[in-house]
Amino acid sequence: MSTLFRPLQIKKHSLDTDYEVNDKNVLGLGINGKVLGCTNRKTGQKCALKILADCEKARREVDLHWRASGCKHIVCICDVYENVFKNRRCLVIVMERMQGGELFNVIQERAESPFTEREAAGVMRDIGSAVKYLHDITIAHRDVKPENLLYSAIGPDRILKLTDFGFAKPTTSYNSLNTPCYTPYYVAPEVLGPEHYDKSCDMWSIGVIMYILLCGFPPFYSHQGLSISPGMKKRIRNGQYSFPDPGIIFIIYLCAAKSLIRHLLNTDPVKRMTINDFMKHPWVSGVSVVPQTPLFSARVLREEEAQWPEVQDEMANALATMRVDFDQVTPIKNLEIANNKLLQKRKKRVAS
Ligand code: ADP
Repeated sequence: MSTLFRPLQIKKHSLDTDYEVNDKNVLGLGINGKVLGCTNRKTGQKCALKILADCEKARREVDLHWRASGCKHIVCICDVYENVFKNRRCLVIVMERMQGGELFNVIQERAESPFTEREAAGVMRDIGSAVKYLHDITIAHRDVKPENLLYSAIGPDRILKLTDFGFAKPTTSYNSLNTPCYTPYYVAPEVLGPEHYDKSCDMWSIGVIMYILLCGFPPFYSHQGLSISPGMKKRIRNGQYSFPDPGIIFIIYLCAAKSLIRHLLNTDPVKRMTINDFMKHPWVSGVSVVPQTPLFSARVLREEEAQWPEVQDEMANALATMRVDFDQVTPIKNLEIANNKLLQKRKKRVAS
């Protein structure tokens, strides 16, 4: 049964009763620590687990990820435990194990045949399906990036899935609870509330991933070797990027893809393409007729392998910048109740 129809029941008994955990089997490293391999003792299913210190933010991550688990293109949560480790209350998320690796590693390692434009369109349709599922249930992921796109298995039946709900956010609470009522003759973008901004952050990510799939490198390159230089921040804000000129054939075939990217990377979040328009675009909805033009991306990804960690940092930082920018759209907090460390420090200094 799809998890969508079951309420989440956090198990209180020890994880060890149901799963055999191998702490040497590290599947990946994230900001919250290691993701470990484990095996269901009853069924033998190979899973992955992530341990979070129990707090409101972790509960929100678990809740939103659970709600999204019914989607074919989102990593499914199998179980959640509330256990104590080293005297700390923790939440353990047990997920299906993704055994096929990260999206771009798979493309990069491919040797047998060139990666084609049609395949790129298929990948984008799958990522779009995950984002559409989330946006339809009023969740913005806000961290759609290459490391969070994993393949379920090796081989032709593999499925691409989105994971990591650490920055996911429900997009309705602000509008329903905090927004005063406005007469909707003209509503300025900032009055619309962060819902659109949060979702448009995912659309920007889709644009960047699509660009990398087609070209092998990201649209915004830091020129100073710093993960996010002031120049790059400016280029992101101004939407300054250009397409490489890979020859006349590509220019003809990739026209539809290029115009799609332009709509996704629109610097004005209000004008940026929505997920519904993306899914309806012929390049995405008509994958089977997208030309099988061979792309250079796999080769470029291989040649630029050493730069990849920098690309990941750049995207992570750009997303962080965007999340902060969007959060600033919410009403300014009352200074008396704002829990701002810098402000508290200043107040203390003034008081003394
Ligand atoms: P964090 O929220 O701590 O950053 P993530 O959920 O992003 O952690 O996971 C970190 C890494 O662990 C991922 O980039 C991936 O390589 C690996 N990973 C995460 N989930 C799974 C999974 N279900 N199966 C296999 N590997 C996973």
